[in-house]
Amino acid sequence: MSTTSKVKFYRGGDLPLELHKVRVVQKLHLVPIERRLEAMKEAGFNTFRLSTKDVFLDMLTDSGTNAMSDNQLAAMMHADDAYAGSQSFERLQKAVLDVLGKKYLLPVHQGRAAENVICRTFVKPGNVIPMNYHFTTTLAHIQENGGRVVELLHDHATELKSEHPFKGNMDIEKLENCINEVGVENIPFIRMEASTNLIGGQPFSMANLMDVRRIADKYGIMLVLDASLIGENAYLIKQREDNWKENSMGEILKMMTGLADLVYFSARKLSSSRGGGICTNQRALYAKMEAMIPLYEGFLTYGGISVREIEAMTVGLYESLDETMISQSPNFIKYLVEELEKRGVPMVTPPGVLGAHVDAMKFCEHIPQEEYPAGALAAALYICSGIRGMERGTVSSVRDENGNEILADVELLRLAVPRRVFTLSQINYVIDRVDWLYQNRKLIGGLKFVYEPPVLRFFMGGLEPKTNWPARLLEKFRKDFGDSL
Ligand SMILES: *Cc1c(COP(=O)(O)O)cnc(C)c1O
Repeated sequence: MSTTSKVKFYRGGDLPLELHKVRVVQKLHLVPIERRLEAMKEAGFNTFRLSTKDVFLDMLTDSGTNAMSDNQLAAMMHADDAYAGSQSFERLQKAVLDVLGKKYLLPVHQGRAAENVICRTFVKPGNVIPMNYHFTTTLAHIQENGGRVVELLHDHATELKSEHPFKGNMDIEKLENCINEVGVENIPFIRMEASTNLIGGQPFSMANLMDVRRIADKYGIMLVLDASLIGENAYLIKQREDNWKENSMGEILKMMTGLADLVYFSARKLSSSRGGGICTNQRALYAKMEAMIPLYEGFLTYGGISVREIEAMTVGLYESLDETMISQSPNFIKYLVEELEKRGVPMVTPPGVLGAHVDAMKFCEHIPQEEYPAGALAAALYICSGIRGMERGTVSSVRDENGNEILADVELLRLAVPRRVFTLSQINYVIDRVDWLYQNRKLIGGLKFVYEPPVLRFFMGGLEPKTNWPARLLEKFRKDFGDSL
């Protein structure tokens, strides 16, 4: 029997269904398109720089934006404020043991802080870290410590349109070749990322993780699991991998974490709260990192996280065992991707987790990659709808040492779908406006940088349109929609 958050329609097809009710609401503003165009200009055609007072649906990220449950909010009220020995932390330790099956826990203020501690401890100059795929902050911390990342996805994983259920799988043959090439002594650990974020939230299979474990054992290398998006990966294993259909979320989660020596996570994603953690069952590994928590994060029983957030994290961890909760965002994303595909919009498939991804290179075929098609698409969608997505393409990459642009492998517009935040009518609005924009895609033009920070330029950089295309987009919108918002 399925306990996922969708039901079958009488006349065929699935309806993603909200298995929660709304008890606290926040007012949203759908400002007129004339204001949206002004706001986009003020934000330098960079969606990161928009104020939420001008944003209708904030689909920038799932980080720290998932809805909290009534039980999480209630738990925050009985937080135990203590610098050392807080009972809130003891409850969190128990949740980590119950849900992730790990005895020793180091609390950190967010996911990248876990990466800082792990990389400072284990990565030495010249080291190589094989992984299925990097995440932005992971790569930065490995490089910061003199290490290098090697990505070992299967060749088909970067095909945007695919039927492959597990595009996040590691290629085992490539892994063994890599170990033999660089030598065991230069590999401090192998890293697997659940629901591989940057390739569209694509999961790996349990069989693949077991294979990676086998190789790790064969060569005596530590296996590290980035579990920030593990709940959704576990759910998709249950949905897509025959051997695991009958297992509970709890069993699948524990099996996954049990295969890794070290597990770390961003609680901003995993448990709809704030904070993060590193956990293990090996006392010696814990001891190696222990001293770094008071140095960089805070005392060992709070690690820079407020005790209230620790309580929310504890409840959030237990809630990730609830398939109806975890499945809500993937089911909404599936619906969004499938409906847009029906309308001819080029989407990354199969639908993954954390958001829907539009193939901007195809959507804006007429815009050269040097003019940032994904950035232009993000700006255009905001102007015609008030929906804020995130550019994941060349704007988000870096220049080489000579200042030349490195064109990204893919140009994506990510539309994040945080857990239990949007209603289905809001998702239908997204579908309608993306559909309209696709029909009018030739009106979208390129962008150029006018202010380019040297590091992480995508956060605060400023751009402007190469031609006056935004005004023409506005004109067409008014023609088609009259005085509608
Ligand atoms: C978000 C994320 C991180 C970093 O976590 P923060 O809490 O944002 O620092 C690391 N790994 C993955 C897979 C993520 O999605």
